[in-house]
Amino acid sequence: MNRVVADCRRFPSDSNCSLTIIGTEDEVLRAAAEHAVSVHGHDAGDQLDDAVRGMLEPEESYQPGERA
Ligand SMILES: [Zn+2]
Repeated sequence: MNRVVADCRRFPSDSNCSLTIIGTEDEVLRAAAEHAVSVHGHDAGDQLDDAVRGMLEPEESYQPGERA
């Protein structure tokens, strides 16, 4: 099962959020979208889903740490 990673540190934000979500693409999309809404105050919707999808990284090539 291929898993993907959504690392909130990759997202520009004021809160220096460090949450990292790892799971299947569907799991991560749902969890990351809910997190973006509940914690970061984004509006739920297709635009947010697209933004979240764009930040997913394959688990195999994921490098933990701050974005360069
Ligand atoms: Zn966050």
